[in-house]
Amino acid sequence: MEKNLEKLWQSVLGEMELQISRANFVTWLKNSRLTEEKDGTLFIVLPNNFAKEWVENKYHKNLLGIVRNFDDSVRKLEFVVSGQKLEILEKKAPVGTAVVFENKINFEFRVDPESNLNPRYNLNSFVVGPSNELAFGAASAVIQNVGVKYNPFFVYGGVGLGKTHLIQSIGNEIRAKYKGKVRPKYVPSEKFTSDVVWAIRNKRMDDIKRKYRDVDVLIIDDIQFIGGKEKTEEEFFHTFNALYENNKQIIISSDRPPQSIPTLEERLRSRFEGGLIADIVYPEYETRVAIIKSKLQENKKELGNEIIELIASKVRKNVREIEGVINKIIFYQDVRGSQINEKIVEDIIEKTTQNFSKRVSDSQIIKSVAEFYRVSTDDLVGKVRKKEIVEPRQVAMYLLRDILDMSYPYIGEKLGKDHTTAIHAIKKINIEINKNSSLFQKIITIKELIYKS
Ligand code: ADP
Ligand code: MG
Repeated sequence: MEKNLEKLWQSVLGEMELQISRANFVTWLKNSRLTEEKDGTLFIVLPNNFAKEWVENKYHKNLLGIVRNFDDSVRKLEFVVSGQKLEILEKKAPVGTAVVFENKINFEFRVDPESNLNPRYNLNSFVVGPSNELAFGAASAVIQNVGVKYNPFFVYGGVGLGKTHLIQSIGNEIRAKYKGKVRPKYVPSEKFTSDVVWAIRNKRMDDIKRKYRDVDVLIIDDIQFIGGKEKTEEEFFHTFNALYENNKQIIISSDRPPQSIPTLEERLRSRFEGGLIADIVYPEYETRVAIIKSKLQENKKELGNEIIELIASKVRKNVREIEGVINKIIFYQDVRGSQINEKIVEDIIEKTTQNFSKRVSDSQIIKSVAEFYRVSTDDLVGKVRKKEIVEPRQVAMYLLRDILDMSYPYIGEKLGKDHTTAIHAIKKINIEINKNSSLFQKIITIKELIYKS
């Protein structure tokens, strides 16, 4: 049972990660755990009172909705603070506290405290296809020539496409290959930021320097989040230089290329561009099939080819979503003992993918498009005929239709055009999106901006 709970929670978190902003996810949910299920109530452990209150107030409904998608026998969520004694556990195991119990559940993949790497990620389990082979090749080269050749290594791509998996794998492979003589350290950029803020407040900048400069490989995930935070960028710049000058390897991930991180300082941007830059794009059909098969194998499960093909053709947004669907299917089979058929799978896919569309307003959409393309909203909705406004405007129209299903005349009016222009623009993007993966990528990134706002 414990194994199932752990899986359930991982799947739920995977979906939450798609629904809320990355920063919020990391701050509030990343360290949460599921400890126990009793009479339809799930007990969720959070690291402190503050997090408990926050999650309870902000995400309770969201979480319950997702959990029930997996397992509708759950009726209630209870939030508890780590270390607090749980009555329910005491009854079961007199010596047990939540902490003891947690350890039992999470033995499988414990993050290594020194490197902060999660051993679950390795290159073996990374399925390679045309969408990621460049990044994969670069990663393998970095492992062979740590700090020498491809420095820094910068990988970018949309959410759930395998950036974290790839860069953590580099760290794990390096640890194994060089038997601990080359020391990697993995850090999400939000963590770096919060460390810097803490150090400034407590006048402990030396600690930061020691922590981040005394490594051989520094892996920074989601660098776009440090953009615009002056002190953090400053400190990162110095860390970067110190490591770089000593031939230490730097690995960076981001949801977009360096030149598209609007708030990133020029000097950092040019440092990044001095190394090797590789992108990861959307896996095409064959790769999706391969990923599904590999995930099934990891879980020692099998599914018929029709079902695998059905999933591959319908779940296209990202790998995390594919995993979400598979986890749910496995859940169905394991927990409910149900036979899986195409109808059930279609239901599961629908539920998984619809979670993504929350209510947003038209002005949110327009604002996010403007923000992404770095143009002003006035230009975007106005009558100006500038070349650099063409794509943003078409994308804005497309998204108004796609997300809000607005009428063409209304969309036209919103963006200072008539309805035929709107029809034309939306049609054009609809066609382009299937041919041009970088446009598809941009649109997904903008959608994320929209849902975050
Ligand atoms: P990102 O950091 O780009 O948002 P992740 O690395 O977190 O994405 O990947 C999301 C999930 O999809 C992870 O569980 C990861 O293991 C899986 N995944 C992504 N790409 C691949 C791949 N090529 N092969 C196998 N699993 C993958
Ligand atoms: Mg990631």
